[in-house]
Amino acid sequence: MSKATDELFKNVISHAKEYGFVFQSSEIYDGLSAVYDYGQNGSELKNNIKTYWWKAMVQMHENIVGIDAAIFMHPTTWKASGHVDGFSDPMIDNKDSKKRYRADQLLEDRIAKYENEGKTDKAAALQTAMDDALKAEDLSRLKELIIEQEIACPVSGTRNWTDVRQFNLMFSTQVGAIADESDTIYLRPETAQGIFVNYLNVQKSGRMKIPFGIAQIGKAFRNEVIARQFIIRMREFEQMEMQFFVRPGTQKEWFNQWKEARLKWHLALGTAPEKYRYHEHTKLAHYADAAYDIEYNFPFGFKEVEGIHSRTDFDLSQHQQYSGKKMQYFDPEVDPETGKPFGNYIPYVIETSIGLDRMFLLTLINAYEEEDLSTDEKQDSRTVLRLPPVLAPVKAAIFPLTKKDGLPEKAREIMDKLKLDFNVQYEEKDAIGKRYRRQDAIGTPFCITVDHQTLEDNTVTIRYRDTMQQERVATDQLEKIIGDMVSWKTVLK
Ligand code: ATP
Repeated sequence: MSKATDELFKNVISHAKEYGFVFQSSEIYDGLSAVYDYGQNGSELKNNIKTYWWKAMVQMHENIVGIDAAIFMHPTTWKASGHVDGFSDPMIDNKDSKKRYRADQLLEDRIAKYENEGKTDKAAALQTAMDDALKAEDLSRLKELIIEQEIACPVSGTRNWTDVRQFNLMFSTQVGAIADESDTIYLRPETAQGIFVNYLNVQKSGRMKIPFGIAQIGKAFRNEVIARQFIIRMREFEQMEMQFFVRPGTQKEWFNQWKEARLKWHLALGTAPEKYRYHEHTKLAHYADAAYDIEYNFPFGFKEVEGIHSRTDFDLSQHQQYSGKKMQYFDPEVDPETGKPFGNYIPYVIETSIGLDRMFLLTLINAYEEEDLSTDEKQDSRTVLRLPPVLAPVKAAIFPLTKKDGLPEKAREIMDKLKLDFNVQYEEKDAIGKRYRRQDAIGTPFCITVDHQTLEDNTVTIRYRDTMQQERVATDQLEKIIGDMVSWKTVLK
């Protein structure tokens, strides 16, 4: 990270705290590593991002429905899904500092270092060696690579390493009063399995016909070995996932369609396309036959925000095997090749999986600007969040020019009408200029000032966040002006 981008990232983090977007969890007790709380403005922004996703995925598609499954699931779910045996990261400890690292990340950092130094051959050779070791699950080879590369612990500076071990990322807890092993259950590490185990329920009760999708937004938990980069890697986070069930053989087509549709969803918010890129997985998970990430260029580089995965019939087949319940679908449509119905099959699945917290950070960083407003006469600046108005936590702020002469009452009267449709705020403290700055800092698209003229002719001054232009409008136009700008129509097609 260059000094300027490092600085920018730090400023965004402190802005997020100062203006009630994100706080460290249990901060009064010095926080809990990799866990965060959303404040008064953060939770509004987060809810708006959720609504945007839900509307785009569920409401805009006749063949996609949404569910809300529990976090706790029958423990066999995680046996069937492969998480009990396979959801782990290789970790290594430094014996002097007692710090724990992910072995693959130590090597990845070294690869990045080679790349920065222009040593692309060395970077490629190490990448291949690491990929081979990971694929073969050869943990002693991973350690050998760390030793060969003379990688030292950043804290102790020594190369006194333990062996590499697998570390399961699932949190477990006990259900019931007696703690024996059969009572161990897990906090779900992904929301997807809640969809798979409900596949039959939804298909039958909703009379869903293939192709169809099931969407869900919810918490997921992973005991990440190293947490870093603020809300990019958390131990408790939220996912927005959709599983799309298709006829076997059509998965490639649907995969490409969803890959494009999902990038369009991101770009509809007005983000510059060059900030995004696709990353194709060359090393596929055991259940996948294709996988792409949608990555965003954060101040610390391109990072995955969303994954599009072609998961084959792996999950449903596994659940069929472990539960003994048939996961088949009868497809009455006639196959033009055989002239007979496609008949019974276990559907294939295309998954779109986006991290809500990463999307939140992306939105915040993309909107954040320290704008220089200096003129020849005076120095001036403002910090403004140029959020898409539809996502802004507060849509409009209403200010009486002064605290007397009936202006507060008039301002509240206007607010009481607007609050039925929009999240609005009333502010009467400080000079108008200061109030504007506070609203700019949380990304409020409109500020409305009520003055003495308002009492005479029912007009107000409306001030626009992005241009800082002001105009005089009739109060009965406010609903339309605000409504048009913050409508879901601005982003949904
Ligand atoms: P990474 O490689 O960055 O650990 P992943 O490939 O394990 O991510 P998936 O299992 O595909 O991630 O999960 C889907 C999405 O969930 C990711 O694209 C990401 O946005 C989000 N996500 C995954 N792990 C975390 C985490 N620890 N904290 C916040 N978001 C996460």
